[in-house]
Amino acid sequence: MSNLLSRREALRAFLFTAGALALPQWSFGQEASSKATPPPASTGVPKVAAATLGERLTLLTNAGGNVVVLTGDEGPLVVDAGVPAMGVALLAEVKRLSGNPNATLINTHWHFDHAGGNEAFARAGARIVAHRNCRERLSKDSVVEFLEMKAPAAPKIALPTVTVSDALTIHANGDDVRLSAVAPAHTDNDLLVFFAQANVLHMGDLYFNGIYPFIDYSSGGWIGGMVAAAEKALSLVDAKTKIVPGHGPLASKADLQGYRDFLATTHERLAKLLKQGRTIDEIVQAKPMQDFDEKLGKGFLPPEKFVRCTALGLQKHG
Ligand SMILES: [Zn+2]
Repeated sequence: MSNLLSRREALRAFLFTAGALALPQWSFGQEASSKATPPPASTGVPKVAAATLGERLTLLTNAGGNVVVLTGDEGPLVVDAGVPAMGVALLAEVKRLSGNPNATLINTHWHFDHAGGNEAFARAGARIVAHRNCRERLSKDSVVEFLEMKAPAAPKIALPTVTVSDALTIHANGDDVRLSAVAPAHTDNDLLVFFAQANVLHMGDLYFNGIYPFIDYSSGGWIGGMVAAAEKALSLVDAKTKIVPGHGPLASKADLQGYRDFLATTHERLAKLLKQGRTIDEIVQAKPMQDFDEKLGKGFLPPEKFVRCTALGLQKHG
């Protein structure tokens, strides 16, 4: 574990993370991004891409985690704010879409590639809504142990001012936006955000579509919670729901069901190996998820890191 990273170093690390996570979005050719322009490879600075999700809903990509914007007379409602360096660009895109700077911003969780743009939005007057543990974690120096990274406390202005511990509905722009907290899963501060009228569900990092998920055990996450969260999400959606993952292309209920089954299989296999007394190194060497590597192992976490991280988290959870 390195010393406390400077703000610049932390930002670079998160940008690297975001860049790695953004790549799969451009290789799946999903419907929602087909109209979008891929980022310029030469400049190193990605360009925010927009795709229509519904009459008033837009998906913004390439700024960190996937961002959803609901526009209307009552001001834009934005889910997630990308990495810090993309906050200003995202805000400009939101203003372009809505013509209204009076934004409400929801953080699906505290990670830098989802809450990193908070400061830019807050300086423009946005109200920020998040899980109460998200505010807690953002307000102090935090650790993402598996990535060997410490994130410095966010400036006060970037902290959420409305916090949720169970559920909250925001009625805005003709939609009912239902926020549901889940038990610790990817972190201990994940929210599901369901646009009831548009029938769109933003799952934040409770869903990595097409790649192995990162489960931040140092923020309270664990594989059993991921299974439960996927099941809760399944209870909210129907066959027509558009499901926005934290990273990766749009998904359907059938995709989410497959993801839930994969998570449950992972939990079962790793729990069995731990129960047999295997060490984490032995579990990694056993390649217990090998049958999923071809499909999911080419993203942010290669197979051995996914197994190591998830097994460590399960071991710590007990
Ligand atoms: Zn995350």
